[in-house]
Amino acid sequence: MTSSKQPVRTRFAPSPTGFLHLGGARTALFSWAYARHFGGTFILRVEDTDLERSTPEAVQAILDGMAWLGLTPDEGPFFQMQHMDRYREVVAGMVKAGTAYYCYSSPEEVDAMRELARSKGQKPRYDGTWRPEPGKILPPIPQGRRPVVRFKSPQDGVTSWIDMVKGPISFDNTELDDLVIARPDGTPTYNFCVVVDDWDMRITHVLRGDDHVNNTPRQITILRALGAPVPEYGHVPMILGPDGEKLSKRHGAVSVMEYDKEGYLPEGMINYLARLGWSHGDDELFTREQLVEWFDPQHLSKSAAQWDPKKLNWVNAHYIKHSDDAALARAVAPRILTRGGHPDRADLVRVAGLLKDRAETLEQLADGAMLFCGDFSGPTAELAEQHLTQTARNALRDFAIQAAELTWTREAISALIKTILASHSLKMPQLAIPLRVAVAGTTQTPAIDAVLEILGRDVVLARLASI
Ligand code: GLU
Repeated sequence: MTSSKQPVRTRFAPSPTGFLHLGGARTALFSWAYARHFGGTFILRVEDTDLERSTPEAVQAILDGMAWLGLTPDEGPFFQMQHMDRYREVVAGMVKAGTAYYCYSSPEEVDAMRELARSKGQKPRYDGTWRPEPGKILPPIPQGRRPVVRFKSPQDGVTSWIDMVKGPISFDNTELDDLVIARPDGTPTYNFCVVVDDWDMRITHVLRGDDHVNNTPRQITILRALGAPVPEYGHVPMILGPDGEKLSKRHGAVSVMEYDKEGYLPEGMINYLARLGWSHGDDELFTREQLVEWFDPQHLSKSAAQWDPKKLNWVNAHYIKHSDDAALARAVAPRILTRGGHPDRADLVRVAGLLKDRAETLEQLADGAMLFCGDFSGPTAELAEQHLTQTARNALRDFAIQAAELTWTREAISALIKTILASHSLKMPQLAIPLRVAVAGTTQTPAIDAVLEILGRDVVLARLASI
């Protein structure tokens, strides 16, 4: 039974045991895009039942990461810890209905059963001692032992589904153990909570990492036992590092918020992440709206995607280049402060406009902006000696004299440079490089006329006077 005719409802269900990593962010993105594409609902469910490993900081990190990426849930965040009563109620209902049973085998006994199976060359499993069957007499209940609750899993047949990513998948039910769904203290176990929530939240499509493939037949059999609709599942292959190994810290940043720090734009990140495992023809660059319009599970890739930092930079450069100058100026100002610069020393909107064509990240933009916003104490002696020759100084002096009278626009500055080149019989680099060294302390800057215009006449003349 599938629920594909229902309004689409997807969920992202992170366990808050660390930051939002790239794989998680991509899963969230796919679930979000799927819901948006079909006009459905995207739900955020925090799977926080592992009390040892879940932290409030990790919850916050996930919320921050999603907010930064603009993956706003339509419902939630919901927290599984707040659903405990509901899980217990469903467990009790299953015991009553005979689809789950109390099992009094001790952990040592279960270990021994598994060992025995292993020694016979079989899959380690629970031997069904407490599984009720018609006509079977169960052992006497050991005194003082609190039972676990096990799901009465079907023992024959197959559990299969057509995976939205991987195609048909089936498991022999003989492979599925009678899963523990509640521990001796009554707390429900992982797969069970997922099932109850997917049911209660009326989830129609589950997109998640393929490390969950083995959980799916267990979840499907429990859903069926509950008479609940079974969602469609799609298991997305993992992301590999550039070296083909599973993506990890060794490959650099794995937390999405780290990419914020490093100066990537959420739009760039979304575009890049979408292409890690999904495609729309040869399109590499697309807007969020296009992604939503085009997103379909048919084009989710069966093979693992590879993280490519160069491509991410290329994508991000595109988004920086097409960003509004004022927005870039706002984004870059705090980064200039961090560098000890003074954002109000230059017209940052124009600085951003000048530099955005070459910057791959906001960090690079901030580095470039320091030319205008940083403290300047003149060129190094070495640069001065090399570039501020007598010929150059003569030309610079003439430039300064005439600059004092100029209407300070890029065009007028450019015309003045040409006049000086002609009157001193110089080629462009013979004036442009000494100018750069004198006013910026470097031989390389963006177009010199634009740089001078933004620096402003007073600054330029003061720096020329002090060489
Ligand atoms: N909480 C699981 C995880 O973080 C995901 C569960 C699911 O998507 O079904 O890996």
